[in-house]
Amino acid sequence: MAQTKALTGDGIAVTVSPMTEPYWQATRERRLVAAKCTHCAHFRVPFLPFCPKCNEQEVEWVELTGPGTLYSFTFYPHPQRESADDPTMLAPAIVEFAEAPGVRYAGNMIDIDTTRIAIGMKVETDWIFNGEGWGLPAFRPVS
Ligand SMILES: [Zn+2]
Repeated sequence: MAQTKALTGDGIAVTVSPMTEPYWQATRERRLVAAKCTHCAHFRVPFLPFCPKCNEQEVEWVELTGPGTLYSFTFYPHPQRESADDPTMLAPAIVEFAEAPGVRYAGNMIDIDTTRIAIGMKVETDWIFNGEGWGLPAFRPVS
């Protein structure tokens, strides 16, 4: 039995540019958003200044309320665990959202035993905040 836990956000640096600021501002409100082309509806994650499908620039930021679906994951001993005997694991994961086809976000799986993590499971978004209040998505099983 090895429980997963997210990294603490304190040491995680976030660089915000004018293009990505809408994403980061949404994280402050615990909202996960994705840029969607207003011309052809193609999602641009990671954010690109021009749509790769139609070359337009304008986007709307769509909230992904989930649940998400676990696409992939791994786990290994947590780098911030108490001691070498501490079984706490860090579980980086990739999650897809049906409301945004083609979009995959990365985050840590949290509050789940590693024996219960399974590709295809439904997850909800939670948040880890760095010292400046920017949010980093984390995922937990839908309760
Ligand atoms: Zn487009």
